[in-house]
Amino acid sequence: MPWELVNSIDPGTSERTVLRFPDSALQDIEIPCVVVRGAGDGPKLAVVAGVHGGEYPGPAAAIRLSREIDPAALSGSIVIVPVVNQTAFWGRTAFVTPDDGKNLNRVFPGNPDGSFSEVLACRLFDAVVRPADALIDLHSGDIFESLSPFSGFYDVLDDTLRTRSESIAWAFDLPSICKYPAPPVDNECLTAAAVRAGVASVLVEVGGNGLLNTEDENAVFDGLINSLRAIGCLDEPVQPTSPVRFEPVAGVDADKDGLWRPEVSLDQQVRAGDRIGVLTDQFGDVLSEFTAPEDGQVVFFMTCLPVQSGDFLVALGRPADS
Ligand SMILES: [Zn+2]
Repeated sequence: MPWELVNSIDPGTSERTVLRFPDSALQDIEIPCVVVRGAGDGPKLAVVAGVHGGEYPGPAAAIRLSREIDPAALSGSIVIVPVVNQTAFWGRTAFVTPDDGKNLNRVFPGNPDGSFSEVLACRLFDAVVRPADALIDLHSGDIFESLSPFSGFYDVLDDTLRTRSESIAWAFDLPSICKYPAPPVDNECLTAAAVRAGVASVLVEVGGNGLLNTEDENAVFDGLINSLRAIGCLDEPVQPTSPVRFEPVAGVDADKDGLWRPEVSLDQQVRAGDRIGVLTDQFGDVLSEFTAPEDGQVVFFMTCLPVQSGDFLVALGRPADS
């Protein structure tokens, strides 16, 4: 297991490994992982990406981190898992794991007796996340999603947890930063489960639409390096960043199955009542018209033509007061 491996290798070195788990549900699953042991003591950071199968800047940046980080310059240790959801990644499936149709990021901390995603979540959580002091979970808009880049953390009561999470979130030089309320137990996202388990955790969302470009990869990589500075793993000054505190204000869900024609673009300002898109049938007749429920800025929208009832179509945000 990765954190045991960290303790077994020489200070100032790294090692490649492959995670395997004994569960029958996971018998064919092999997950590449790189462990890095710094020359000195310091925080234990888990960097994971590829929880969703069609989000590529995170895996690319995590691989680059594993190759470029100098263990001799590091204090503390890092476990890097660039692609946690192997079957979704190789299957090129959006949102869900093909083995059971579940969204891996809605089943943490998992269940050892559950379905494929639940067992995978449980084993990953216990092996990689729970022993760490901090977690960075790298996401993007999925194959059919466009979003404005942001980092997010939870406003938990524990000062150490909150401060460490916030310092990592700020270290990512993304346009927006989102402070979420402390997550209730029915929030089964990885970062939520992690912070409830006492692990400082940050969600990073950069890129989308199944694209991998250098700009997004660099943004994530640079954020990872600056995070290492922010939590004291690298003895270098933190590069100053200037994200804007954003809060989600409203969203629009599909009220029926249909063909989705968004009429907004990313970062567009809309006023309450502005038309933001329509659903049609396959003859092109309009089934539903959607208007902005409140004033705000488009921070996310779905980009695929066929959508299902209940799909999240548009999210609006705005600068937070504090
Ligand atoms: Zn994701």
